[in-house]
Amino acid sequence: MRQQLFKSEKLAAVEQMGAAISHEIRNPLTVSKGFVQLLEKESISADKQKEYLSLIKEGLDSAEKVIQDYLTFSKPSIDSMDELNIQHELNQIISFLIPTANQHSVLISAEFIPSIYVLGDGQKFSQCLLNVMKNGIESMPDGGTLSVSVKKKENKVIIEIKDTGVGMTKEQMNKLGEPYYSTKGANGTGLGMMVAFSVIRAMKGSVYITSELGKGTIFSLQFPAFEYAAK
Ligand code: ADP
Ligand code: MG
Repeated sequence: MRQQLFKSEKLAAVEQMGAAISHEIRNPLTVSKGFVQLLEKESISADKQKEYLSLIKEGLDSAEKVIQDYLTFSKPSIDSMDELNIQHELNQIISFLIPTANQHSVLISAEFIPSIYVLGDGQKFSQCLLNVMKNGIESMPDGGTLSVSVKKKENKVIIEIKDTGVGMTKEQMNKLGEPYYSTKGANGTGLGMMVAFSVIRAMKGSVYITSELGKGTIFSLQFPAFEYAAK
């Protein structure tokens, strides 16, 4: 099953990442703060204390996850248009993900060719790839392989990210990129794909997804290749 995903109506609402993110982080922080205030004021039972503390932790965890899905690589800077060396960028993201992969008993295999470039904002590009690869890893709770490969075809750079995980139904695939769509309960934000798609679109790229339940998923990200002018 192969589908091209780009529902502009899904994306229109999230162009303003900055506004969305402050909202997403403020909510759980406000909730946590409320429980901190309760702990300060009341003389409450040990049971209640425990309950409030666990709710506070939940709120903080959830704010932290949102930050991970949006801002892992962010430094304060305006959007830049850089010539990104794909091999270099992907190696960096993979080294960042190795601890997570180890936790899930996932092997990351990478196949690159050097000197392939795309134009984009390095931090956003990294965040996009990170979110896609992290989902791949998380789709393999009993271990497996995440294969990352890069090809160039005509004027396109094709980055393929393949997992041997749980896969998705057609209905699940259709929901990808919808804000807050997550099958991971408290472990998910449902924001990772939305961020990834929005970055791909900003880079004039596209994404094709092939998935089979119980077998795994392939994300094929395609970007216009950046060619250095011949000297
Ligand atoms: P989150 O990871 O926080 O749940 P995402 O937006 O990153 O949110 O992903 C949304 C949902 O898409 C996931 O909860 C999962 O159900 C599904 N998904 C994304 N990538 C994969 C994948 N590689 N394999 C299986 N399901 C996936
Ligand atoms: Mg995710």
